[in-house]
This record gives sequence, C-alpha cells and structure tokens, in this order.
Amino acid sequence: MDSTSPSPYRMRIKNARIATCAGHGSTDEARLDLREHASIVIERGTIAYVGPDDDCPAGMYHRVVDVGGRLVTPGLVDPHTHLVFAGTRAGEFRQKMEGVDYRTIAKGGGGIGATVRATREATDDSLTASVLARMRVLASCGVTLVEIKSGYGLTVEHELRLLRIAREASHRRMETAASRDNPKLAGQLLPRTTTTLLGAHAVPPEHAHDRAGYVELVATEMVRRASELRRLGLRETTLADACDVYLDENAFTVEEARTILTAAKAAGLRVRAHVGQFADVGGAELLAELGGLSCDHLEVVSDEGLRAMAAAGTRAVLLPVAWRTLKQRPPDAARMRAHGVAIAVGTDANPGTSACLDPLAALGLAVRDAGLSPSAALLAVTREAAAAVGAETGRLEVERDADLCVWDHDDPSVFGYVVGGLRPAWAISRGMTLVGGPEELGAAVFR
Ligand SMILES: [Zn+2]
Repeated sequence: MDSTSPSPYRMRIKNARIATCAGHGSTDEARLDLREHASIVIERGTIAYVGPDDDCPAGMYHRVVDVGGRLVTPGLVDPHTHLVFAGTRAGEFRQKMEGVDYRTIAKGGGGIGATVRATREATDDSLTASVLARMRVLASCGVTLVEIKSGYGLTVEHELRLLRIAREASHRRMETAASRDNPKLAGQLLPRTTTTLLGAHAVPPEHAHDRAGYVELVATEMVRRASELRRLGLRETTLADACDVYLDENAFTVEEARTILTAAKAAGLRVRAHVGQFADVGGAELLAELGGLSCDHLEVVSDEGLRAMAAAGTRAVLLPVAWRTLKQRPPDAARMRAHGVAIAVGTDANPGTSACLDPLAALGLAVRDAGLSPSAALLAVTREAAAAVGAETGRLEVERDADLCVWDHDDPSVFGYVVGGLRPAWAISRGMTLVGGPEELGAAVFR
C-alpha cells in the first residue's frame, strides 16, 4: 500500500466474553473456547485479532466498542432450508392436527405436490420477494449464512430457476468496495447463501410411471446444468454448491440416491441427504461412503450408520420443528455424540413440515426434545452448521470472515434456554452491520 492510501477500516470490540467456537479438544467446552475479557479486531471484513484485551494490538481504530462483558459468538448458520416456495399449507397443518393421515392429505392434493404446483405457477418476482422476506427474518436472528435448497420445481428448468433465485438473493445484499462498518447499511444487508440442488425431493407427476427416467434426468441433465459455470451478475458461478436427495421409505432408494449423488460428486458438487426421517434404509452408510457433508433428520438410524458417519466426518443435522409437526419421537443426541458424530441444528424452513424461520427456537427444541447438551448447542448453529454446508465460517479465528453476533447475555446456556424471540443486539457480516448495533445493548428480554 502506498503512503497516500487511507488506512484500512479497523474496528475493535472489547471487554467481551467471546465464545470463539474454534477451540480444539474432544469436549464441547473445549471446542466452545470461552474467553473472558477479550477483544476482537475486524479489518477489511476479516478477523485480524481474537484474544485478551490486554494483548490487543495498539494503533488506530476507527471504532472501539466496549460491550461490557457480554457474549460475542460467530454469526449463526442455518444449514437446512427450503426457502424458495410459494403457497401456504396451513390448511393441511390443521388437518394433521385434527388427526388426518398424511396419505389421505396427499391423495387430496396436499403434501409436496401442492407446493410444487404453487411454486411452478409463481412468478420469479414473487418468489424472489418471499425469499428476501424470509432471509430478513433469518438475519434478525443473527444468521449470516443460510443454505437454500431447490426441490419444488422438479423439472430441469424449474429446478434451475429456483437455484438461480436462491443464488441471486445473496447478491441483493448491499456490497461496498471497502468492507467498512456503516450503521446506515443496517437492515439492507442479507445473509449470504449457499445453494443445494434437491431435484430428488419427490418424483413429479409427469414421471409417476417413469421413476427410473426421472432419476436419470436428475443424475444427468439437472446435475450437469446446476454444476456448470455461468455468469450471474458480475461473477462466474455455478447455480448449486451441493446436491441433496430425499432418501427414505416412500422417497428415493439407496440405489437411486447412489446414482444421483455419485454423478453430483463427479460434477464437483458436495453431497448430503435427507436420511432416516421415517425409516432406516441404509442412507447413513451411503453418505459416509460418499464422504457426504451431512445426513439430515436422522430420527431413525442404526449404530452402524452412526459409526460410519463418525468415521467419515459426516455431520448429523437435526431438524426439531419437523419432528414436532409430525409428532415423531425425537432422535437421541447423546447417542449420536457417544458415537462421535458432530451435530448441527437447522430450521428446515418449509411450508409443509416446518414453518419456522428461527434457528434458535429450533435449537431450544433440540436441547429439550433430543437431549442436545447446552454446551453443544451453540456449536450446533455455528461451527458444526458451517461444516455441514462445507463453509469456512462459524468460528472466530484470525483470517476468517468477520461474521459475528453480540448478545445481551453473558451465559452461553441462553442458547437452548430461550425458545423463540432470542435475537442478537448486533450482528455483523464480513465486517458490516447486518442488524442492530451497539446502541441496542442493554434491552435483553430474558436477562
Ligand atoms: Zn428438508
């Protein structure tokens, strides 16, 4: 840098209780890595220092914020959503609560098929508007990265359309050349997105008598076009980062999933799957064999499946609102941890089984229903959730993106304790204010 260049924008948050979620060691406490009287320095959107207040580098800061011993965590990651959809299924929910069987609901035109029809009929503009509205809610919860699946198009063109809308949603966030924190931008930024092709969500009506043909279509043309580089706005990108399959009884089989996910892997996409929501058909073993990022749901999974996942580093993504909606028995988080499987938690935001846009409410249910330990809770929506989508975030470490939240609390047990309505006072995405600000500290609702 020459002498006439302005110094880079530097901000320091000090007097914080920082849960870096970047610790080493085998216990959840060690991985949470809680630091007292600590500072974090942000420079050009990345973390330049995390450590004791007393050792923080001196020098010029454009902004220094004393957070009075409050908790600072990584920005939250929602690792599993179906955010691009049209239409409500509230009527169907009412039927479910009144005890009507899901097969009866499907025969009456409900289920995924209802959302596919409504989504195909919706315009790009209306889908985009609803995705952005949903992302704003997630941002208010402190989410800095959200995974979004397709899966309500179920033709090549419709699936690609949903992926494009999800991809472009993150481009709508305000970008500035210099990553400097500017309070005026608060409320205009959105979480970043990572996208997943879920063409194998269901067999569409056009292929009702040609399942094999549909699996072939997903494994060839859909995967190829979702994984090819294309120009989108100012950058070259693929439409999808990963590929997912709904692998279960009454969904896609292990062999069908193998065909699709092997093709996706060969095309450079990461792979993951909905596994064991209703039955254990061997999905966990398949995903472990393929080096999958995650198995999501896992209400039903064998010890062999968990062992295979642990050995492969495949994460479990728990989706509590879905098991609640379906009145299922929750999975056993302690059993998963005993096998060495790392656990993430997501909203599973979708109109059928999880009408939820609050990852911390989902987390509260995971702690209460599935026995996820309070020490593992924060990790499940930061570090492990990031790993479940293959992202290099969710940890407060030097040189990582400065994605973080400042909470009006000092005890990490608050994650799991408050079920709904827990919001960061200030969330920062790559060094820029996503929501709130330090002026909002001091108004906690459960402190
Ligand atoms: Zn899902």
